[in-house]
Amino acid sequence: MKILKIQTLRGPNYWSIRRGKLIILRLDLEELAETTSNLIPGFVDGLVRILPSLYQHHCSPGHEGGFLMRLREGTLLGHVIEHVALELQELAGMPVGFGRTRMTGTEGIYQVVFEYQNEQAGRYAGRAAVRLCQSIIDTGTYPQRELEQDLADLRDFKAKASLGPSTDTLVKEAEARNIPWQELSSRSIIQFGYGVHSHRMQATLSDLTGILGVELAGDKEGAKKLLADVGIPVPKGVVIEYLDELEDAIQDIGGYPIVIKPLDGNHGRGISVDIETIERAEEAFEIASGVSKSVIVERYHPGRDFRVLVINGKVVAVSERVPAHVVGDGHSTIQELIDITNQDPQRGEGHDNVLTKIEMNHDSWELLDRQNYTLETVLPEGQVCYLRFTANLSTGGIAVDHTDEIHPQNVWICQRAARTIGLDIAGIDVVSPDISKPMPDVGGVIVEVNAAPGFRMHTCPSRGIARNVAEPVLNMLFPPGQPSRIPILAITGTNGKTTTTRLIAHICKQTGKNVGYTTTDGIYIGDYLVEKGDTTGPQSAQLILRDPTVEIAVLETARGGILRSGLGFDHCDVGVVLNVQADHLGIGDIDTVEQLADLKAVVVESAWPAGYAVLNADDPLVADMAEQVKAQVAFFSMDPGNRLVKEHIESGGLAAVYENGYLSILKGDWTLRIEQAVNVPMTMGARANFMIANALAACLAAYAQGISITDIRTALTTFKMSVEQTPGRMNLIDLGEFSALVDYAHNPAGYEAVGEFVQKWPGERIGVIGGPGDRRDEDLAQLGELSAKIFNRILIKEDDDTRGRPRGDAAHFIEMGVIRVPHHCTYEIIHDEVTAINQALGTASPGALVVVLPCEVGRTIRLIENYGENHKLASKP
Ligand code: ATP
Ligand code: ATP
Ligand code: MG
Ligand code: MG
Repeated sequence: MKILKIQTLRGPNYWSIRRGKLIILRLDLEELAETTSNLIPGFVDGLVRILPSLYQHHCSPGHEGGFLMRLREGTLLGHVIEHVALELQELAGMPVGFGRTRMTGTEGIYQVVFEYQNEQAGRYAGRAAVRLCQSIIDTGTYPQRELEQDLADLRDFKAKASLGPSTDTLVKEAEARNIPWQELSSRSIIQFGYGVHSHRMQATLSDLTGILGVELAGDKEGAKKLLADVGIPVPKGVVIEYLDELEDAIQDIGGYPIVIKPLDGNHGRGISVDIETIERAEEAFEIASGVSKSVIVERYHPGRDFRVLVINGKVVAVSERVPAHVVGDGHSTIQELIDITNQDPQRGEGHDNVLTKIEMNHDSWELLDRQNYTLETVLPEGQVCYLRFTANLSTGGIAVDHTDEIHPQNVWICQRAARTIGLDIAGIDVVSPDISKPMPDVGGVIVEVNAAPGFRMHTCPSRGIARNVAEPVLNMLFPPGQPSRIPILAITGTNGKTTTTRLIAHICKQTGKNVGYTTTDGIYIGDYLVEKGDTTGPQSAQLILRDPTVEIAVLETARGGILRSGLGFDHCDVGVVLNVQADHLGIGDIDTVEQLADLKAVVVESAWPAGYAVLNADDPLVADMAEQVKAQVAFFSMDPGNRLVKEHIESGGLAAVYENGYLSILKGDWTLRIEQAVNVPMTMGARANFMIANALAACLAAYAQGISITDIRTALTTFKMSVEQTPGRMNLIDLGEFSALVDYAHNPAGYEAVGEFVQKWPGERIGVIGGPGDRRDEDLAQLGELSAKIFNRILIKEDDDTRGRPRGDAAHFIEMGVIRVPHHCTYEIIHDEVTAINQALGTASPGALVVVLPCEVGRTIRLIENYGENHKLASKP
């Protein structure tokens, strides 16, 4: 067995629309290609011994033990690897369930597809599964320590990628509400939503959190002053820098007991509480000055520690924090009690779990000393021994929910405090004997207001009810009725994608909205090019969706990207499939047009049920997609009599057709004429039928998205197939004596489409043709054959990049195609594209059309324009 390739899918894809996170192993079973599990001695028993939990896999029988049945009956190894890869992830705490295994067109080679939660873990699980199975085949077993190492590595990937407890709850809430989210590339910023409607958060700081509030919260003394100014109870305190100021300070605040803490500290670092003597006060001063230069000396208020969480002006949760402690059982020592407490699986290091392990520190020794305890002391049953003065979870404390008990006056005080400091999300530390009594009555105070408060004490309290505090955050960012997404129109098909995408974007621009669009030529936002290049994959789509200025996304979505990593979005509003024609077959295990259709169908299958699938009714492979989609269907057709279209509109559906020279929308009984084709420049005076079809698709998509007929009409009449606007798509250039046409046609359907237009040309028709070297020999021959029927004279050239073929090879197969046409036209082979173009231009007869189907559009256009310039100069007297 050998893994030939590992691919990672991250969005809706060929295998599944709903499960975007998939790994594909391209696996060569080599000598085991024909061998089923039951035929390998000891394999099934060995596997079950190592992974007994495989019993739970239902597989096709649909019940527990189902997969084991398949194993014993005999199943191919690709299928076994799929289940093992899933199970390894499951055992490492990443439950996943989806898998598929399929034969490819090449014998012995399989595609093993399985779900992942974490990309790296998924890829690792695939490799480990192959290793494990190979070992059982070779030796009957897989060493236990290897398996343990695999699982440890998998858990490690999960831990490294984890988002932190607060972010995790926000993301889960967003998923539950269908709000898309993505992690940005720096500072662990999470973006929720798309385009103009997006919001960003970093842990519990939101893009609505003001910098003033955050700074103020960080300045404990300043914050307390502002709170005191509006009558909110806070402990009396002063700030000092030197030890000799200490005694006066204690006097000023009214004497002992006192608290000493660093001015800018957090997580309880450097704080000493309940100080009764000058000796301890001096010690505490030294500790606090170790953390920050300035030190707060403040009144100690006895009481319990509460954290009140205020979000968007409302108290949403209250938690009591209890300092790290152990409770005696009458026979264990304090050290043993700490060890037992730390064995709790909920306790991790730092903030990476619900709770944190207890570790001994200066405070712990101090507390033990005060009670004359040591770590060897056996605590009587029920006796509590505190190991920290402060209640921070990050130093081993626990949290207990009290949300339902807070007194309304305390709610009012805390809400005012959050507003006074100016925080949309505030964690207010209250010290009070009882949160259910008004603070002023029982001596309760606010000791601090925290920006970016952690959520885990509310979402995972050790006791009491867990509170979904992510909900009010998302309600604040996305109030009911406010969208989180922008409209996405996604276009696919074999030919015409870029043209149609550009036209749809042009239509959307008429509405005054800022349109982001991706094409084979580059990524555009509004009128500007963001990035040049073939940008039709998921990363380009995400660039548009991430952009906080974009209001509508129009995305050319090509085969390559869908195949490589799936769609860059989970759902689109309008999906368009223009056509499915033979091209790129034999690449990426897509060998038939039916498979190609399934691949392109991903775009329309991802359309929301309330959205639209815009389908070509004249192309059976596309029209059939209507059966698979969840969205509403809209058909376009060049033939107003098309049976499908007729049935569809009779049942109230939406369609667009070319009727009586008009591009029209049909809606139920109504015909809405948009414009006459002769007035639509891209149709070349209604002579280029395939352009009419592209325009129909664009109009229909725009109409389905709610754009008015007026805007659509304006766009149609102003959209030109010029060298500037759509280079390489039907650029007709008048050279005086004759004309030249530059077009990107690069597959049989493209040649036929352009050919239909060219054949109507009254003069000589000269073709400068070639074909991409990565196509099959027969595909190249077919291009030759088609050309022989379209042109009077052909110059066969090759692309600059032969894509792996020896120079002359592609031209040879095209020639084979030319000569199989009876009475074929004259032809010549000139490998170099530039030479061929110059030769065609130099020998064209008056009234001729020189059609160049180039690999380098920019260069071709320059050559032709130069020729035009020189010719004009030469013809001047
Ligand atoms: P955190 O990061 O957990 O908020 P911190 O380092 O910012 O902690 P404070 O919130 O000021 O520090 O204090 C930590 C804890 O010390 C408080 O939750 C409280 O238990 C105790 N504490 C601080 N000041 C007083 C006070 N004046 N009276 C009583 N207890 C206090
Ligand atoms: P690519 O796969 O290179 O991105 P694309 O699908 O984006 O191509 P366009 O760039 O719009 O397509 O057009 C490329 C060429 O395909 C055109 O120049 C034309 O020759 C041909 N073509 C365009 N539309 C159609 C159509 N509806 N049917 C057949 N051929 C077409
Ligand atoms: Mg605090
Ligand atoms: Mg394109």
